[in-house]
Amino acid sequence: MDGSDRETEVLVVGFGPVGATIANLLGRYGVRTLAIDAATEIFPQPRAIALDNEALRILQAAGLPEGSFETIAIPEVRYRSPYVGQLARLETGGCLDGHPKLVTFYQPELESELRSRAREHPSVTVELGVELVELAEEKGRVRARLRELDGKEHAVHAKYLVGADGAKSRVRKALGVGFDGRSYAEDWLIVDAKRESSSLDHIEFLCDPRRPAPHMPAPGGRERWEFMLHPGESAEEMEHPDKVRELLSPWGSPDDMDIERTAVYRFHARTVERFQKGRVFLAGDAAHITPPFAGQGLVAGLRDAMNLCWKLTWVLRGRAAPRILETYDQERRPHAKAMIALARWLGRIIMPTSRAQALATGVLMRGLRLIPPARSYLEELKIKPQNEFDRGLFVERRRRGLRGRPTQPKTQLTRGAMFPQAWCQRGSDGCWSDDALGDGLTLIGFGIDPEPYLGSSAAAFSAAGGACIQLCHRGQRIHRSDGDNVWEDISGAFIPGIAPIGWAAVVRPDRTILHDGPVTEAARLVGETLALLGAGYAQPDSSKEMGARATASRASAAPEAQR
Ligand SMILES: Cc1cc2nc3c(=O)[nH]c(=O)nc-3n(C[C@H](O)[C@H](O)[C@H](O)COP(=O)(O)OP(=O)(O)OC[C@H]3O[C@@H](n4cnc5c(N)ncnc54)[C@H](O)[C@@H]3O)c2cc1C
Repeated sequence: MDGSDRETEVLVVGFGPVGATIANLLGRYGVRTLAIDAATEIFPQPRAIALDNEALRILQAAGLPEGSFETIAIPEVRYRSPYVGQLARLETGGCLDGHPKLVTFYQPELESELRSRAREHPSVTVELGVELVELAEEKGRVRARLRELDGKEHAVHAKYLVGADGAKSRVRKALGVGFDGRSYAEDWLIVDAKRESSSLDHIEFLCDPRRPAPHMPAPGGRERWEFMLHPGESAEEMEHPDKVRELLSPWGSPDDMDIERTAVYRFHARTVERFQKGRVFLAGDAAHITPPFAGQGLVAGLRDAMNLCWKLTWVLRGRAAPRILETYDQERRPHAKAMIALARWLGRIIMPTSRAQALATGVLMRGLRLIPPARSYLEELKIKPQNEFDRGLFVERRRRGLRGRPTQPKTQLTRGAMFPQAWCQRGSDGCWSDDALGDGLTLIGFGIDPEPYLGSSAAAFSAAGGACIQLCHRGQRIHRSDGDNVWEDISGAFIPGIAPIGWAAVVRPDRTILHDGPVTEAARLVGETLALLGAGYAQPDSSKEMGARATASRASAAPEAQR
């Protein structure tokens, strides 16, 4: 850094996995981004090990295609009691939206990949060994005081600041927002070890009140064990190599294991009271921390990144009004809380506090397995909260039509929920549909090209970062446009999977469904989309933005125009 004050569009504080994902997403949009981290190296301790299909899809959007880092697909998760045998089983095999439902991975490898890719974006600057000391919002920007390792201090002015600086976030403290929830009374020892002879292919939770212990495979011949500490057991005592060997001995000879990393953690379940204050946003562990029993801490941070980055870009480029930024908190906070509630519930199964409680839980869980709906609810991962918003940046569907009749949805599309992903083909080129959709707003025509129906709104849609594509069913000839924005739906996932021919949907850059309706009404769909965004907002980055704020809930509640 030179000694003078500098300017950037977005300052990302924290270059952990969430900050690095944000830098990649902003880099793809060409947003001038400065990402800093107080540490000079990737955090070496064992932390995240599991990612779901949604996380992998977000990493795909951030520029990490399949195979960028090693993963192991996990076919099932088993919960086992020493008293009653198998308590529950989650079916995690197969794919959803183009990615395995559950994988394990090695966090330092993912972080290293994210870091090197972020540095490849010309608009992204990364500085390590640079700590945020203080921040203040002033005159339509944020002023941040940064300190280098040698103690030198500098100021940076940013249009927006994202605090992705982890659980002890200084950004959160500077904002003075509450971080409500609870901390668990128990500590856990995490052990990562390598062994050549491992044949473990699933995740197993040993729900033993004497010592609960999750155990799972990870890439590179690794296995992870997590052991709950008893009252009075200290971290030093438990991390001692002899103690670790003793704990691992039920799973094989510790002589055959290379103990790679150990760490003791206390888990917390907390969510910040708001994800945004003025021009400052919180993401990842800075905004929410969860016990790892649902494997969703980092996944939630990746969802934050995906939700926030396009909104910041659209506002910075004057394609949307600043009020849309308020929907970040509206959309992300309830879902992050729901995931934490799931993790706490699973924690109660995993950590029975007594033999009696373990038996009672065992009997209840086994009983539930005898009731088919309850069994499928558990096994097919329906307990996982859907990433679907109640309020936010989408056009709400009218619950009642004209004369009070309920409207009949003709599709499987849910506004405020994720648009699915499937394999598509154009000529001999095949790709995932997200890659065909690209980085902007997309008007998708199912079986019919929507572009001719846009009329005079086409230019405004394009100016707001919008583009059209036509998804055809396999082998479709009639109504097929001869443009290069036509993709065949190879597996039938879209047509008739989710929408009939003649339907259209507007999908946000983060793949949330914003609007849908008949393709013949594409001009109306786009008009209402642009109105919701506040597109054509004439003063990007100006200090007047703050005065122009309107409540985002009002935007989301904007009714559909009468048909
Ligand atoms: C035992 C364990 C198991 C887990 N398992 C899973 C799992 O299976 N799946 C899952 O999804 N999640 C899991 N998690 C959670 C996951 O590890 C975290 O959610 C994730 O690492 C958080 O990433 P982050 O980028 O938000 O924060 P961090 O990784 O903490 O990064 C924050 C960065 O900010 C930097 N920083 C801090 N203060 C400043 C400052 N003032 N100035 C500049 N830089 C600063 C830090 O140096 C750090 O690099 C687990 C966690 C633990 C502890």
